[in-house]
Amino acid sequence: MDRIKMTVPIVEMDGDEMTRILWQKIKDLLICPYVELNTEYYDLSLFNRNATEDKVTEEAAYATLRHGVAVKCATITPNYQRMQEYPQLTKMWPSPNATIRSIMGGTVFRSPIVIDFIKPVVRNWKKPITIARHAYGDIYKSAEMITDEPGVCSMVFKGESGKEQTITVHKASGPAVWLGQHNYIDSIRDFARSCFQYAVDTKQDLWFSAKDTISKNYDGEFRKVFEAEYENYRSRFEELGITYFYTLIDDAVSRVIRSEGGYIWACKNYDGDVMSDMVSTAFGSLAMMTSVLVNPDGKYEFEAAHGTVTRHYYRYLKGEKTSTNPVATIFAWTGALRKRGELDGNTRLQDFGDSLEKACFNTLGSGIMTNDLVHLAEPGFKARGVDTDEFLSAIAAELDKLME
Ligand code: NAP
Ligand code: MG
Repeated sequence: MDRIKMTVPIVEMDGDEMTRILWQKIKDLLICPYVELNTEYYDLSLFNRNATEDKVTEEAAYATLRHGVAVKCATITPNYQRMQEYPQLTKMWPSPNATIRSIMGGTVFRSPIVIDFIKPVVRNWKKPITIARHAYGDIYKSAEMITDEPGVCSMVFKGESGKEQTITVHKASGPAVWLGQHNYIDSIRDFARSCFQYAVDTKQDLWFSAKDTISKNYDGEFRKVFEAEYENYRSRFEELGITYFYTLIDDAVSRVIRSEGGYIWACKNYDGDVMSDMVSTAFGSLAMMTSVLVNPDGKYEFEAAHGTVTRHYYRYLKGEKTSTNPVATIFAWTGALRKRGELDGNTRLQDFGDSLEKACFNTLGSGIMTNDLVHLAEPGFKARGVDTDEFLSAIAAELDKLME
């Protein structure tokens, strides 16, 4: 078979620790035998970020804006402990994901990879629930204050034009706590556009929730911006037979629990923070969550939601076999390859993405899996835990059959 060609490169961002090991194996064993892989390679390992003073991260993000599609390996975000572990670090470099997001803009969509023999805690969930979290502002960029006597708190806005707006927050009768938060209309609009774009891409309904009955101006503005942006997407939604649906956050929570899944739930920053942990836990495993950053202009960065799996890496360094689950990282690759294929009209590349995912599902369905999934399998399902290499070989064998 002649290998599948790619005209435009995918931006490849390599990473750290155990996921860096998986990264190479996935390429060697599952992708390169079938695809003449064309990538623009950026090494985002902690050492190379340190050596380049983190320029490599910025360059990778700009490259994604140029080419449109990236795939990223998990990376270490250094903290105090890492600074002691690696004394050669010259600075506590910021989170690469935060740097990339600040350059690309956009929204992170997290979805579980759903398999038959692992039933979500919520029994009626049959399809994935994708959470889109607005990652700017609200309580995450707020000003807080504690006061210790009766008094009045007001909020004053001084415009650059000299115009002022003042509002009394509350006349307090005793010690009190206060919080001032903000968001940008542009940031809300970008969030809305990324959500509508991703709903069209994945042909799924879009839900958006807020509390505009109580917060008539703040949350009310979120609702209005979404409704205005929807008008630009209405005809595409109608063609695809998908819907946009606004509801109050508390109503959304109860509908989500009763639903069978299969939609995107757009959440304000705090709601997304809380709900994404609830949804991923209820679906089973962090090792089976994918994540994609979609910017409002339709540029994509695919990755696994989990980190670099440090504990497994230290065992690997000691020469031990580990049973690290590569599925979410494989799905980051298939997501990127399929998207590249879609944008370039390269159907063979799209089909390859589908086949590689199918090879993973077939392998898992035959009972071969990494240890993290074994204890999640339904009673009665014959699950056999294997190490990473054995699992990857089994997927490679399935893929070989599918590609014949
Ligand atoms: P983690 O790498 O996600 O791992 C936490 C634990 O979850 C692991 O020890 C393992 O549990 C289990 N796990 C996660 N992924 C797994 C997989 N693919 N297969 C099997 N088990 C898996 O989180 P962490 O240990 O908190 O963070 C490690 C490093 O990753 C940190 O330096 C952090 O900065 C970085 N990080 C990066 C990203 C990113 O780049 N997107 C995201 C999060 C964290 P057991 O040990 O019990 O088997
Ligand atoms: Mg959280």
